[in-house]
Amino acid sequence: MKLIEPILQFHQELQQIRRTIHANPELSYQEVETAELVAQKLTEWGIPVIRGMGVTGVVGVIKNGNSNRAVGLRADMDALPVHESNTFAHHSQNVGKMHACGHDGHTAMLLGAAHYLSQHRNFDGTVYVIFQPAEEGGAGAKRMIDDGLFTQCPMDAVFGMHNWPGATAGGMGVKVGPMMASSNEFCVSIKGKGSHAAQPHMSIDPIMVAVQIAQSWQTIVARNKNPNDPGVLSITQIHSGSGTNIIPDSATLVGTVRTFSLEVLDLIENRMREIAEHTAAAFGASIGFDFKRNYPPLINHPAETAFAIGVMQDVLGKDQVDTNVAPTMGSEDFAFMLQEKPGCYVFIGNGDGEHRMLGHGLGPCNLHNPSYDFNDDLLPIGATYWVRLAEQFLANAPLR
Ligand SMILES: [Zn+2]
Ligand SMILES: [Zn+2]
Repeated sequence: MKLIEPILQFHQELQQIRRTIHANPELSYQEVETAELVAQKLTEWGIPVIRGMGVTGVVGVIKNGNSNRAVGLRADMDALPVHESNTFAHHSQNVGKMHACGHDGHTAMLLGAAHYLSQHRNFDGTVYVIFQPAEEGGAGAKRMIDDGLFTQCPMDAVFGMHNWPGATAGGMGVKVGPMMASSNEFCVSIKGKGSHAAQPHMSIDPIMVAVQIAQSWQTIVARNKNPNDPGVLSITQIHSGSGTNIIPDSATLVGTVRTFSLEVLDLIENRMREIAEHTAAAFGASIGFDFKRNYPPLINHPAETAFAIGVMQDVLGKDQVDTNVAPTMGSEDFAFMLQEKPGCYVFIGNGDGEHRMLGHGLGPCNLHNPSYDFNDDLLPIGATYWVRLAEQFLANAPLR
């Protein structure tokens, strides 16, 4: 592992910053103190700062030389509505809020890179360090784009990183093409006609309609979609009824759809609507169809992924980089940035959980678990990756 010496010497300070953020978690679009801390540090290090982009987002602008080339490095700052179980000194001071996804670590790693880049400037062009709000469901990345991220800060490519519990601490993984799924939710209401349960002939029973729709929808995955294309359709709630002697007036089906491509998503959504409408019509009922697309699939671009793999292998050694990591059905709003700009998103292993103090949960402790903690050993590794990525991106000939 070839870590940058001045960053290693800065480890204590980065750990302090990471733990301060961990102790003071803020939910999506409320990252006021976190944004303040980030902006203060950047300013202290002589880096010009753009504030309030996408409500609480912060961008640091590090320039050197005359080149027009530019690269964006992105971290997220928001915490989750989780009640922290850990009792170590840096546990959450904000009851019911917690950095259970490691965004405290992402922010600290990028600050570490910004500090080094501002002092050494061994590149020609501009590095934008992007600290975004509201990754956890609030589409903060999209909000920053809508607020002019890529027009105010024109860049040739953008890169992202997330820690991954269970994977070797400091090892990294990536995959070209789809790496994380689109996330979507639906709510379909069925309007029938209520009646006494002893007089079913007077009713249009919405429960019968709901059951037919629920069964038929599974044929979309089994019979409409190409079996080579991954896709999930899960009904997670069915609501109807209020008594044993009442046929209810209405029923509701709620759930989620995940896919790795927009084409498969279009297919599933269209078929769901057709089946729901026609099934309801067959029974004399009517439906309301609400389908919400949250995050698109995260799709890594080939040239930038090859470039990122080169940087990771340089820093970590070949055996520490998984170049064909298994995709996950989880989702990530960095996908919006990759729809606008070429780039690549990577995982960095958070280890098997040994870094957490004894008595605070077992095993690697997944993301969003109340016993989770970001592994501070990753701080210089992630920061070194960011620095080498920026230096090499702004030193090489353009990728295309
Ligand atoms: Zn998360
Ligand atoms: Zn996360």
